[in-house]
Amino acid sequence: MDFELSEELRAIRDTARDFAAERMLPQAARWDAECIFPVEILREAATLGFGGITVRDDVGGSGLSRLGAAVIFEELAAACTSTAAYISIHNMAAWMIDRYGSEAQRRRFLPDLTAMRSFASYCLTEPGAGSDAAALQTRAERQGDHYRVNGTKAFISGGGVSDVYVVMVRTGGSGPGGISTLVVEKGTAGLSFGKQEKKLGWNSQPTAQVILEDARVPVANRLGAEGDGFKIAMAGLDGGRINIGACSIGAARACLDATREHMGQRSQFGRKLAEFQALQFKFADMATELEAARLMIQRAAAKLDAGAEDATLHCAMAKRLATDAGFAICNDALQLHGGYGYLKDFPIERYLRDARVHQILEGTNEIMRVIIARRMLAP
Ligand SMILES: Cc1cc2nc3c(=O)[nH]c(=O)nc-3n(C[C@H](O)[C@H](O)[C@H](O)COP(=O)(O)OP(=O)(O)OC[C@H]3O[C@@H](n4cnc5c(N)ncnc54)[C@H](O)[C@@H]3O)c2cc1C
Repeated sequence: MDFELSEELRAIRDTARDFAAERMLPQAARWDAECIFPVEILREAATLGFGGITVRDDVGGSGLSRLGAAVIFEELAAACTSTAAYISIHNMAAWMIDRYGSEAQRRRFLPDLTAMRSFASYCLTEPGAGSDAAALQTRAERQGDHYRVNGTKAFISGGGVSDVYVVMVRTGGSGPGGISTLVVEKGTAGLSFGKQEKKLGWNSQPTAQVILEDARVPVANRLGAEGDGFKIAMAGLDGGRINIGACSIGAARACLDATREHMGQRSQFGRKLAEFQALQFKFADMATELEAARLMIQRAAAKLDAGAEDATLHCAMAKRLATDAGFAICNDALQLHGGYGYLKDFPIERYLRDARVHQILEGTNEIMRVIIARRMLAP
């Protein structure tokens, strides 16, 4: 067991760290305040290989491991958590096409996606099917060489701006076995979008409903066989949960670094904050939780890379722990900044707002507990 990153991963981490510090951090507050989706910066990130991190290289991907992806997302999120999280969702959708698509589908969609000339969204949630995703009702009726699709997907990250929507639809009966996955392209007749949602955080990426009304989607756009859709959606989420957990770690690390600096500068009662033992203990706990979260994310990534049977269990555990710890560390950092932590002049509140949603999406942390308990308590 080796707990150190390889030389290759250290080089990738340094590349991501430099890019994040130079190209993302200086603009992150403005993207947040003005709800700017930073297309040009995303395309720059793609030139470094971040548009298809785990996608195979014959279609422009970087062919990296899940561990490599976790390392990259921690670095990007330490600069702009919201933008990093969108890149993670784009990567999840691109990976699903790479893993489950035919050669023709891979060659058609992935060169543009890996270069981020086009952007991808993942569409599972519906107004009536959130945590109970297998109850989704978007219906796809086969009519010759295409499907006629009707339904609404809710909360879709990238909704309205993405070019490619990986959509879970019902082609068969109720339950997970009746679900299939279709790639729906922007411009498809019958595809439209709801209003842009106004959110607590994640402001550098749009969120909207994706509405399908008699949308004609070619059968050639189906990933895998009819009925495979739920399995494909869940496989995407295993990796997605590692990435979103890594984004929480990045946000928490940025807050911890800012707190260290603040505690060394700010004096009250004639002493630096760093000299109060109560605050030292709080800081020590934050640093310890961060390290524990990173270890769990990296272990889950290694499990997924190894194709371990219990990888899904470890992804759920790591996502639950890293996103809870990540938010708690941001919140403690805000407390240790006193009133300054609450001001937009300091970045803590942005990280806090951005990290909050990680406890809700890609499966809420209650659903992570359901997955863990189901797997560990099964008779
Ligand atoms: C900003 C944002 C971006 C998102 N992006 C996407 C996206 O790109 N693609 C996509 O498909 N979805 C996306 N989502 C949707 C997200 O995945 C869902 O919000 C999430 O799965 C929860 O579903 P829900 O909101 O319907 O809550 P509900 O399922 O209604 O849950 C409400 C509460 O009940 C709890 N709960 C529900 N069932 C159980 C149970 N069995 N046991 C214990 N507790 C339970 C939940 O944990 C939660 O606390 C996004 C959401 C947000 C806020």
